[in-house]
Amino acid sequence: MKVQPVRGTHDIYGQDLLKYKRLEAIVNKYANIYDFSEIITPIIESTDLFKKPLGEQSDVVLKEMYTFNDRNNSLLTLRPEYTTPMIRAAISNNLLEKIPQKLFGIGPMFRRERPQKGRYRQFNQINFEILGINDIAADVDIILLADDLLKNFFPDKKIDLQINSLGDQNTLKIFKENLSLYFQKYTNDLSEESQNKIHTNPLRILDSKNIKDIKINKSAPKIFDYFSEEASDRFDNFKKLLSDTNISYEINPRLVRGLDYYCHTVFEFKTNDLGSQDTLIGGGRYDGLAKILGGPDIPGVGWAGGVERIIMLMKDINKNENKIHLILLHPSFKSYGFQLLNQLRKNNIAVYFDYKYDLKKSLSKANKLNSEFAIIIGEEEVEKNQYTIKYLHKNIQEVLSLEQIIKKLK
Ligand code: AMP
Repeated sequence: MKVQPVRGTHDIYGQDLLKYKRLEAIVNKYANIYDFSEIITPIIESTDLFKKPLGEQSDVVLKEMYTFNDRNNSLLTLRPEYTTPMIRAAISNNLLEKIPQKLFGIGPMFRRERPQKGRYRQFNQINFEILGINDIAADVDIILLADDLLKNFFPDKKIDLQINSLGDQNTLKIFKENLSLYFQKYTNDLSEESQNKIHTNPLRILDSKNIKDIKINKSAPKIFDYFSEEASDRFDNFKKLLSDTNISYEINPRLVRGLDYYCHTVFEFKTNDLGSQDTLIGGGRYDGLAKILGGPDIPGVGWAGGVERIIMLMKDINKNENKIHLILLHPSFKSYGFQLLNQLRKNNIAVYFDYKYDLKKSLSKANKLNSEFAIIIGEEEVEKNQYTIKYLHKNIQEVLSLEQIIKKLK
């Protein structure tokens, strides 16, 4: 059997890579327009960085992290998400002395999930974070940015924004307790996976996709009923500002996000075109996170988008295959050929040379690509120090000197 990539990982090339590059260009452009600075952090971090913030009972920490012993026995983890490493980096490098600190990054994340369409074990994420701002304007601004990016990635697609609020930490604590009590009444009716979460992570039962769970979720307690006045006002103001900016959204009371560090605003951009892995971008507010990581007690809001899922929805990119072909009629003309190649390349002219020394094959390849020019070097050209250029679309050719050919092709 052919060698294969590790299960859940994939190679990116051809159309997908063209799309990846376009995505990167759009992200860089909008990062600049919205005034975010890029940060590149290491792929390995110490395991402790993730355990507490993500939640000891979160799926990621319980079963998805790639963790290994370093040679000195310290535990390292391949980052499963970007928010925590970004805040770690902001603390490590004293970036939080300047607030707001607006950071973004693109890069690989690692989670040992069951691979399926749109779900990989190594995948790439785009991350945007605004650190140090409590104002709902930051929540709205970062959603506007996501909306702008999605409209640029695929202008023709309709992407739905769902929002919810988890209230403050105290709201969430009481809500979780009540949720747990509610689910205990249905222990035997819930899916096996959800049964295991009743005491440890009842929030996650709310966004289960299992039919049995969905039925029970319909009458589950709603977080809005546990909001403090402040949390409730905050959510109202957030919704109003979002509407004022003409962003349409839907409130989804069962939207909870998978990691422990979220509070107040949470949101997801979803599509109907990708099957069950339908979330393109997910994010929210994480006010206590910097402090948990040993930094200042500052708030934060951000999101992560899945590059592979976005690429799946992007239209194919037309690649201009029209090339200038250099055709040598015999291997003995190599050094003469390289003199020309060097000159053309110095003048930023791209030339395609297939190392084949076969006029018929090379011409048929050039025709296939619908290319316009072929430069042919045979015995006569070498002797007379000249070049034959063939205009493939017109089926005519002429003989030129080096200067003339550069002038023509520039
Ligand atoms: P999360 O950090 O789980 O909120 O994920 C944020 C986004 O990353 C999701 O909305 C997906 O688009 C993408 N994503 C998360 N997990 C995976 C995965 N295993 N494979 C591919 N994309 C993923």
